[in-house]
Amino acid sequence: MQNPHMMSDRKPIRQLDDAAANRIAAGEVVERPASAIKELVENALDAAAERIEISYADGGKTLIRVVDDGTGIPSDELVLALSRHATSKIDGSDLLNIHSFGFRGEALPSLGAVGRLTITSRFSGATEAAVIAVNGGAIGVVQPAALARGTVVELRDLFHATPARLKFLRSDRAESSAISDVIKRLAMAAPDVGFVLRDVSKTGEGRVVFRAEPESGDFATALRKRLLRVLGADFVDNALEINFERHDILLTGYAALPTYSRGAAVSQFFFVNGRPVRDKQFHGALRAAYSDFLSRDRHPAAVLFLSCDPELVDVNVHPAKAEVRFRDPSAPRGLIVSGLRQALAGAGHRASSTVGNETLAAMRPEAPIYQMTDRGQRYSPPPIPQTSGFAEAGSWESGRVEPTPTLDADLTHLPLGAARAQLHENYIVAQTATGMVLVDQHAAHERLVYERLKRQMGENGVASQVLLIPEIADLSDTDRARILEISDQLATLGLVVEPFGDGAICVRETPAILGEIDSVKLVRDICDELADSGCSQTVKDKIEEILSRMACHGSIRSGRRMTADEMNALLREMEATPHSGQCNHGRPTYVELALSDIERLFGRV
Ligand code: ADP
Ligand code: MG
Repeated sequence: MQNPHMMSDRKPIRQLDDAAANRIAAGEVVERPASAIKELVENALDAAAERIEISYADGGKTLIRVVDDGTGIPSDELVLALSRHATSKIDGSDLLNIHSFGFRGEALPSLGAVGRLTITSRFSGATEAAVIAVNGGAIGVVQPAALARGTVVELRDLFHATPARLKFLRSDRAESSAISDVIKRLAMAAPDVGFVLRDVSKTGEGRVVFRAEPESGDFATALRKRLLRVLGADFVDNALEINFERHDILLTGYAALPTYSRGAAVSQFFFVNGRPVRDKQFHGALRAAYSDFLSRDRHPAAVLFLSCDPELVDVNVHPAKAEVRFRDPSAPRGLIVSGLRQALAGAGHRASSTVGNETLAAMRPEAPIYQMTDRGQRYSPPPIPQTSGFAEAGSWESGRVEPTPTLDADLTHLPLGAARAQLHENYIVAQTATGMVLVDQHAAHERLVYERLKRQMGENGVASQVLLIPEIADLSDTDRARILEISDQLATLGLVVEPFGDGAICVRETPAILGEIDSVKLVRDICDELADSGCSQTVKDKIEEILSRMACHGSIRSGRRMTADEMNALLREMEATPHSGQCNHGRPTYVELALSDIERLFGRV
């Protein structure tokens, strides 16, 4: 049989013409209408636009139009803008010092090669605008045009010149949703810029799919207001502001409380030096940060910005720049995990207010009678006392709560207030200075027991059991070195490993709490994790999983009547315990109803 690659009629090597080269490049840069829109909006942002209007028809297949009020393009540079590797953003001397979205000079020539492209632009200060058209790579002549300011780029019939690619496009609806997604991400990246996204498939003005006015204030403030438009009030109400720096990388943004978790990873957005990126490892890091609070099928919500010296990150590793590479690949993971864990610990007992909304909705007899807008002042967590509250609270595992003597002092000024009643043997009603809280005693107690077990583990280490016959794990040299390097740390978690000959290690003790385990598999899991991230959570995660299960068994079941003192002891304990606002499954342990909410329920305001 003849090898098709060894054709006898071989042609000589030739340089492809510009049109062919551009079409090949377009294959990488412009995958679908949403990627064309991404390139055009990024160009508008690079041109310092304050307002950007995007219109599309038929999922972007027949028409894409991006209008901006940026600096514009001088008419004598229009032809250049359409040639490959021509850019005004870098001079080519330093590809590691990028401050703009664009720098490769590929988008416009690529779009011109695969669609009918028209660019109308008026350079700031110029007396008139000019227009240029390209079709299937053939560049027309520059002509005068009417435009007050900025740039209008119109792309019609995307991929008409490459019918094969047309076949890869999905339904109009799927392409439209990819477009919305791109605009959402860029709108979060640039909260000070106004965006309007219109579907103009039908005649007329079109349907506004998304609109956001330019937001003012410093970045965190503007971002918060922008997130209100993009992700909604529920996210913002339940979000913690993140501000954490380590190893010259700054992590900022907002992360939602565990109780505001989603059924899918739909509300996770990452930006590196202002550029939206999709990177599996960031999602993995986010999951790791919340691993203590969420079950496997729940997903945290967060909008996170990593900022650093551009030299520390290479943005030139992906055709659409959707992925980036850090000089120290383990840095972002550590930063995200530590930064978020710290913020979540700081949130203390605070739970999501979303459930408060739903609770309120359930209380309303009929259709909504008022607009829930102002949720009122929310509590900030009290400082965690120096002494462990558990010691005073007595024996929790037995399911009994030892009462702390009730002081005559007024407890209503405390965040979770004074216990007033127990309902259905499981719900504690407490009065606070500004309203009331309702506590799920079982869920709350479960979390308290869990936190206590964890704290004990932190203080006294984890008990280990000695294996009768040590297990031998054969490992590669790197894995072996990595795991031996952290053997001290592992020992505090009850896993004792020692070198064993050249290519192996020996496991002598395992964490007693894990019972009988496949210790070689555990060692391999740890090695994989170390290779991925440079640090290992595996043993700790496994142990915490067990602790959580034990806590569930050791906590007060619902159905147990409690005295006022017992209930107050539970409330005080919750105030003093980090993470007590949600149970081990990410559900809230209490909900809160502000007096103003109650008044509105009764139509008093
Ligand atoms: P890049 O963005 O990588 O420079 P593009 O092909 O996207 O490459 O754009 C080429 C050049 O055209 C840009 O460098 C910029 O000078 C100019 N340009 C493109 N779009 C705009 C716009 N909306 N406003 C002002 N200038 C623009
Ligand atoms: Mg560009």
